[in-house]
Amino acid sequence: MSSGLLTISYLIAAVLFILSLGGLSAHHTARRGALYGTVGILLAIVATLLGDTTGLVLITALLVVGAGVGIYVARRVEMTAMPQLVAILHSFVGLAAVLIGFSDHIVQHEIIDRIAQAVHRGEVFVGVFVGALTFTGSVVAWAKLQGTLDGRPLLLPARHLLNLLMLGSICVCGYFFVGNGSVLLLLLAAVLAFVFGAHLVIAIGGADMPVVVSMLNSYSGWAAAATGFMLVNDLLIVAGALVGSSGAILSYIMCRAMNRSFLSVILGGFGSQSATAVADAGDKKYLVTDTETTATSLQNSSRVIIVPGYGMAVAQAQHSIKEISARLTAGGVDVRFAIHPVAGRLPGHMNVLLAEAGVPYSIVAEMDDINAEFEKTDTVLVIGANDIVNPGAISDSSSSIYGMPVLHAWHAKQVIVLKRSMASGYSGVDNPLFYRDNTHMLFGDAKKTSDDILALLQQQTQPQQNFA
Ligand code: NDP
Repeated sequence: MSSGLLTISYLIAAVLFILSLGGLSAHHTARRGALYGTVGILLAIVATLLGDTTGLVLITALLVVGAGVGIYVARRVEMTAMPQLVAILHSFVGLAAVLIGFSDHIVQHEIIDRIAQAVHRGEVFVGVFVGALTFTGSVVAWAKLQGTLDGRPLLLPARHLLNLLMLGSICVCGYFFVGNGSVLLLLLAAVLAFVFGAHLVIAIGGADMPVVVSMLNSYSGWAAAATGFMLVNDLLIVAGALVGSSGAILSYIMCRAMNRSFLSVILGGFGSQSATAVADAGDKKYLVTDTETTATSLQNSSRVIIVPGYGMAVAQAQHSIKEISARLTAGGVDVRFAIHPVAGRLPGHMNVLLAEAGVPYSIVAEMDDINAEFEKTDTVLVIGANDIVNPGAISDSSSSIYGMPVLHAWHAKQVIVLKRSMASGYSGVDNPLFYRDNTHMLFGDAKKTSDDILALLQQQTQPQQNFA
């Protein structure tokens, strides 16, 4: 393929990546966004392969194996395990950047100009450093999300000093590496960066993992961009910068949603109190209800807000919940869904499930838009949500989720919580909402209880309108 055609292909791919990001920013254009991204990456791969046909057979064989594994894993993964998958995929980008950095440095380049050589070594060093910390950080994030490692933060004494020492040593290695190109220095920096990445993420716990995952997404983008500089590949630089900057913006949005300082999350050590805060109802009193009473309460309400959480995803209750909302709407009840930005286990998790079930976008509201509505609401139905409706985040300064904005469900006349027990949510913090006078617990798997409520509503009413 001529260099002109290659450049044009890269340009089209870059435009498709930008269109993809634009499409992914709204529900109704997300599918189109995913399609643009897929076509863009396909074009990029084909153009790169045809641009330099060295080792074409081996690369194609490896691509087929990689794509096969990717398709197999993506088809099998549960929505609830997506964050782990995303984290481990970030680790691959990081590891690739490290390996490419070393191989690029070991294969001696004919660079005569001393400044150009120093710049190239700088690119190699940055790629290896960012790649190494992305790799171990992502592996630790995967292990925490998967439950292989304890989700609680591990806070070593003087950890900030330790981080500073590691970062300082890496900078010193970088300074001398740029001057003399010693592989040993690069290796030492890589080992330090591996430890640094793992240490940063291991110190983050509980409810702060969403920010970590989006931050690692950003790091993986910058690692790819650095590799692009190393390999003098413009498309890799553009694609890496797009992933890096969009990941950084997402991290910023998540930090705002959780009222965390971006810098503090990067430096690690959040969620520390959750290490000791484990929910235990103990002697505390809570009220229990049943499906009949819940169905009647819902029918007798004028306004209902449904708050979906991680438990709805686990139970796969979204279809039954959608039918309940359609049935109530048909009966003249004003039903809306309230979405917390970190509900579930990945950004947009609830929006995806509700869209899949066919809930109209018009009745789905984001936290900031609906929080004032709770006090005008008769019944709030909490479906497998916990941390995102925890009033302690506002009133209890000793709570590890203190400061995180939450949905003000308790302002409604009554709250009904569908979950299996009094167990805590992801942060490990007990939820005072469950012990309030206006809250009733409806115990059981959310799919089973919502199916039962739906059956009761169907017995009692005839639908006049359906969303379908
Ligand atoms: P939580 O994890 O706080 O609570 C989920 C609740 O669902 C649990 O208390 C559990 O209680 C219940 N549950 C589980 N399975 C079922 C089931 N089959 N039927 C009924 N209930 C069930 O979820 P939230 O959505 O409220 O909050 C999300 C949390 O996850 C936040 O802390 C957030 O920071 C964190 N997080 C979010 C990520 C994101 O990007 N969105 C990524 C990583 C973490 P029980 O066992 O009693 O049934």
